[in-house]
Amino acid sequence: MIPRETIDRIYASAHIEDVISDYVTLRKRGANLIGLCPFHDEKTGSFTVSPAKGIYKCFGCGKAGNAVNFIMEYEQCSYTDALRTLAKKYNIEIQERELTDEEKQAQTERESMFMLNEWANNWFRHNLWETEEGRNIGLKYFLERGIREDIIKKFCLGYSPDRNALYSAAHSAKFDDKYLENTGLCGKSERGYYDRFKGRVMFPIYTVSGKVVAFAGRILKKQEHVGKYVNSPDSLLYSKQKELYGLSLAKQTIAKKGCCYLVEGQMDVISMHQAGIENVVSSGGTALTKYQIRLLHRFTENVTILYDGDAAGIHAALRGIDMLLEQGINIKVVLLPDGEDPDSFARKQNATDFIQFIQDHQQDFIRFKTNLLLKDAEGDPVKRSEVVRNIMESVAVIPDRITQQIYIKDCSRLLDISEETLLSEVKRLQNIAAEQEQKRRSQPTTGQNVSKTDEVQANEQNVTAPSVYPDSRNDSPADTLSTSDIEDKKLNENIQNILQVLVRYGDRTLYTNEDGTTCSLGQYILTDLDNDQIVFQHPLYRKIIEELRLHLNEEGFCAETFFKYHIDPEISALAVNLISEKYTRSKIYGKKSISENVNVEVELPSDEDELTDLVPHLLYELKLALINRQIDSLRMQLQHAQENNDEETMLQLLRQQPALEQIKRMLCLALGRRIK
Ligand SMILES: [Zn+2]
Repeated sequence: MIPRETIDRIYASAHIEDVISDYVTLRKRGANLIGLCPFHDEKTGSFTVSPAKGIYKCFGCGKAGNAVNFIMEYEQCSYTDALRTLAKKYNIEIQERELTDEEKQAQTERESMFMLNEWANNWFRHNLWETEEGRNIGLKYFLERGIREDIIKKFCLGYSPDRNALYSAAHSAKFDDKYLENTGLCGKSERGYYDRFKGRVMFPIYTVSGKVVAFAGRILKKQEHVGKYVNSPDSLLYSKQKELYGLSLAKQTIAKKGCCYLVEGQMDVISMHQAGIENVVSSGGTALTKYQIRLLHRFTENVTILYDGDAAGIHAALRGIDMLLEQGINIKVVLLPDGEDPDSFARKQNATDFIQFIQDHQQDFIRFKTNLLLKDAEGDPVKRSEVVRNIMESVAVIPDRITQQIYIKDCSRLLDISEETLLSEVKRLQNIAAEQEQKRRSQPTTGQNVSKTDEVQANEQNVTAPSVYPDSRNDSPADTLSTSDIEDKKLNENIQNILQVLVRYGDRTLYTNEDGTTCSLGQYILTDLDNDQIVFQHPLYRKIIEELRLHLNEEGFCAETFFKYHIDPEISALAVNLISEKYTRSKIYGKKSISENVNVEVELPSDEDELTDLVPHLLYELKLALINRQIDSLRMQLQHAQENNDEETMLQLLRQQPALEQIKRMLCLALGRRIK
């Protein structure tokens, strides 16, 4: 448990732009900052951060919140864990009380796995530096490869002893077998658990925010049938496809330099750091995936790929680059001298020379590909036309039309083919791609598409406002579901309008009585809802009302701040959404004449006079929606009773009807509406 004062200190220190910059490169736009959303796939930024308001909001997928919400959402962690992450970042000491056994149990599986990884990471490092075996084998290996001690420490490299030592040590430290297996630190055979990484030097793999999600271990002995490198298997924490090695150490330099170097292996990254080049990441020895590209794109639009000099490597590497182009990333390519990889080359150079070499030898990717393939096809016309198509395939995926034009011009010269011909080839390829995309969309999702669909669904779930009457909706007969859906939507909108003024202006004075006492907007609404016994069904909406009731009369209460930084992350996320959302006003209230049934989005009026008009109006609208719902439900019950020849119920229902219709008429009158 973290004390309230500490939470307040964390909120006060954690400037939203500072927190989010660790995950996304933000650019200034007016009073706000803008970047690529980390929660959905996009090529142009709709993810907005407002330093003044202390909130973020994505206009693409709807995610919104404060600094703590961001960490929770991004790291998929609990509220407490997000606070701990921020406290660590801002050097705020948290004095927590001991957790009870139940609380320990309640810690999520993810958190337990992170704890175990963190522990194992320290244990591997301890073995490297403090044990004889570690120093004689592991440390000796790194030093012989020319890695300096400060770099070994920077990358937290470690050593795993050549026996099942981790398993016993973790057991003594009271870690569960389950987590040892789930993190992949141990495997299980008929003879029991064994250390996956025994006898290897260890490279921890960090998330972008610096949490250990996995390990890579390199074997030192020559052994047959054993891979040189072993990686943690995919787990709840780790997907090999989604991480970029070195990103957590590189991200600041990437943002500063405005570009990133992409290399193949972990040792390449480490050696380049040692040479003084820090904006470098590795795909971890596999072909680049779309997830890794998306992750990288959040930090930069400029990527330079460093290739080993040998031809086989180059051709293999060409694959996958179209995915980078598709994202709108500017790609440059550097070929290292024959026989060198970034690791070996970096160890012979200092940063200045290395960067100079890169600057002298980097080529634009399309030009590089064109020259390379043309050389292969020399004197072979069939192969040559193949080359043209291949290159135009790369050009066709570039999202920016102007960039595309430039390439077509360029290639026309290199390939000696007219621009018109190339342009029509690009158009043709784009049409084929569009058709394929159409087909893919109309097919039921299978296999590979599953994760994408999950992502979309997850996003959609978050955009949808909580429905007001989830329970009653389940009770209603299936054939009326659609009508009540529309009613629910309308009602939900009305409720959200009320909540919006409450969260923004709950503490404002709405009017002053003759005796000089005042009534706040919050007080006015709460009293009015109470008088009509209106209780919101959705737990989150109800909580907002309850919290307001509890704190409204406190000295210096500010509704917006109170809800925005509320201890319950669900409340703060909803509040941020309500604060940043434009307010939907119907045509009746709007001062300009707008055709019927059109809702307009406008800034919520904020001055006292306008609020005095607006608030009663919003309450009438809410009540009208509620009455309409009741009338509908009455009609349905009547129909039901009629079908069952239940005369007694019918009479009873019919007696209720006039009263409801009467209230509806009054509400319509108050709203200045014709009665439908
Ligand atoms: Zn988004």
